[in-house]
Amino acid sequence: MARTLAMFTDVSLCIGCRACQVACKQWNQLAPEEPEWTGTYQNHPHFTDKSYRLVRFFEQTDGQGGLTWHMMSDVCKHCAQAGCLEACPTGAIYRTEYGTVNINQDICNGCRYCVSACPFGVVAYNEDTGTATKCTFCNDRIHNGLGPACAKACPTESIRFGYRDELAAKARKRVEDLKRMGFKDAQLYGEDQNGPVGGLNAFFLLLAKPSLYGLPENPKLPQGNVLVDSLLSIGAAVMVGLGAVVVFRDRGGKGGA
Ligand code: SF4
Ligand code: SF4
Ligand code: SF4
Repeated sequence: MARTLAMFTDVSLCIGCRACQVACKQWNQLAPEEPEWTGTYQNHPHFTDKSYRLVRFFEQTDGQGGLTWHMMSDVCKHCAQAGCLEACPTGAIYRTEYGTVNINQDICNGCRYCVSACPFGVVAYNEDTGTATKCTFCNDRIHNGLGPACAKACPTESIRFGYRDELAAKARKRVEDLKRMGFKDAQLYGEDQNGPVGGLNAFFLLLAKPSLYGLPENPKLPQGNVLVDSLLSIGAAVMVGLGAVVVFRDRGGKGGA
């Protein structure tokens, strides 16, 4: 396997210009969509089959009349343990030699298991093609020596592309710098390969806790929920079984009297 590639999105550098969102649409020839009013500058409210990158806008009040704007360019995380990939029954979702996660459109049967298996709400269903779609990590570009279109278009280098280990080292250093500058809540999300879902190959530097950005604090594979559900089911079955034995013995005792 080749050295793992990654994208590092540093929200402290994002100015919300949406050049990344537009570049993604342009490169992937994704059709325009009707704007949707979200109450903020964000458009659309969520990922769609025509929006693989989405610049999110959030407001944070400090309770004393102060307001902070947070902007974050969100994308498929190309998880090391990818719920979408594990849920796909046809093998359409696969991992590339660079560690990224892709959907083979020729094999996808449109069952949408991946849509509900993604902990980040990334996968969208395309009604026209009858297939699931998401960010491809610009698979065509990176196999031709080009970086992802979104990273190339970003004027502030909020999105950076490169080898994962090198980007992670830069990200850790950047957090330290920001903390020194007074951003006490600066933190990395998905950089730790021993963390949830084995780490993300599109990881983030956030300026506040993940939930402020609509990200799960502790993303889990849906299979984790399946295990809990299974244990609960087994527990319930044991209780029913024990109940049946008690009733049987009770009746047996009365029958014998
Ligand atoms: S973010 Fe969702 S769609 Fe992307 S690799 Fe992870 S599970 Fe799959
Ligand atoms: S890597 Fe490519 S497909 Fe993914 S969000 Fe960026 S431009 Fe779009
Ligand atoms: S292009 Fe860069 S600065 Fe502009 S919205 Fe995207 S990530 Fe933010």
